[in-house]
Amino acid sequence: MEALHLKALREKISKCMGCGICRGVWERKDQAMCPVWATGTGFEDSTPRGRVTVAQDILDGFIQYSMPLAESVFRCTDCACCVTTCDSMDPETGDPIVDVPSIVAAMRMDLVENGFVPPHVRDYFKAVHVNGNPYKLPQEQRGKWAKGTGIEPFSGQDYLFFAGDVGSFDERGQVMARSVATLLVKGGVSLGTLSDRELSDGNDARVLGEAGLFQYLAEHNIETFREAGVKKIISLDPHSFNAFKKYYPEFGGDFEIFHYTQILETLIRDGGLVLSGLKARVTYHDPCYLGRHNGLYDPPRNILKKVPGLDLVEMKRNKKSAFCCGGGGGNFFTDMVGGGINSPSRIRVREALETGAEILAVTCPLCAKMLDDAVKDEGVEDRFRVMDVSEIITEAVAG
Ligand code: SF4
Ligand code: SF4
Repeated sequence: MEALHLKALREKISKCMGCGICRGVWERKDQAMCPVWATGTGFEDSTPRGRVTVAQDILDGFIQYSMPLAESVFRCTDCACCVTTCDSMDPETGDPIVDVPSIVAAMRMDLVENGFVPPHVRDYFKAVHVNGNPYKLPQEQRGKWAKGTGIEPFSGQDYLFFAGDVGSFDERGQVMARSVATLLVKGGVSLGTLSDRELSDGNDARVLGEAGLFQYLAEHNIETFREAGVKKIISLDPHSFNAFKKYYPEFGGDFEIFHYTQILETLIRDGGLVLSGLKARVTYHDPCYLGRHNGLYDPPRNILKKVPGLDLVEMKRNKKSAFCCGGGGGNFFTDMVGGGINSPSRIRVREALETGAEILAVTCPLCAKMLDDAVKDEGVEDRFRVMDVSEIITEAVAG
């Protein structure tokens, strides 16, 4: 049984001190930083520290890759909270040495290559491979969301607008994609869409360990963007943003990448959209692929702070320590973490309610869907709603 990808991280794995800080406050699961531990089976393998122990045991030959082990390894949302809490840092650069998500990713690649793939994960790979999207829908339907927004097909505009899988096919995601595109068009941003010529961005296939599928998707999209003359991309989805910015350059994809909140922030600052106001108490949820993975904490907050009458309040865990909604690392599609009263999204909604806010602002279509569902499960939809930042701005725009 080969553990080639894990072996390359031997040095990194050996630097774990076993302190358990990455588990959060273990006596109270609602305080745990790792969303999988918070949801909890109660077993150590659900914790970041446990994942490093498992990796070390594989390298030492005490355990081998197997299907039961795969079920555990695929229950990680790649939220990177364990990276920001770990004290094992390079003293010179300040970079994390242990970096649990990269260890999990290496184990997943080994598992995929050795044929240990849980059914939900296998179904996800198959759907993306066959259809170019995880919804098993025909490519021709990819551009349907754009109807009525005023966005044109891409033909050399300043920006390509990339809606991604959830923005293109999921009902909640489509509402968000329409809202963002309509607002940017209204603000005079020059942008177009390639709709059915795009495939999945591949971010979640990569995180789930299917390196070959990710390479195929990245190369296809890069070629499509190049042929169309794309130079700058606005992504709706932080997952696409993460893939384009950090992993497409490996395959020659060196485009300028923006999340839509960066464009919206500039537009509002420069007077491209005039805000009349919105009287509401709002709290903001940082998506992991925008915040911890890419350091973008300010643009959404700066946008919200510009709305007259809007009272922005922070949850106790915000920015670097924000608690994951549970939708990262492919879990949005595979649901390996599972639901229940202590699902990450329900914990996050309860935390948002503690602030006294009536609106939970989001900037990711996966967060929007996960948290929307959690609001219903918590039974608070009569007094609390999840809104994308662009939906809030649309309500606040003058005239
Ligand atoms: S990346 Fe997130 S879900 Fe995965 S082990 Fe670390 S804290 Fe837990
Ligand atoms: S990963 Fe970091 S925080 Fe977690 S047990 Fe190891 S050294 Fe401690």
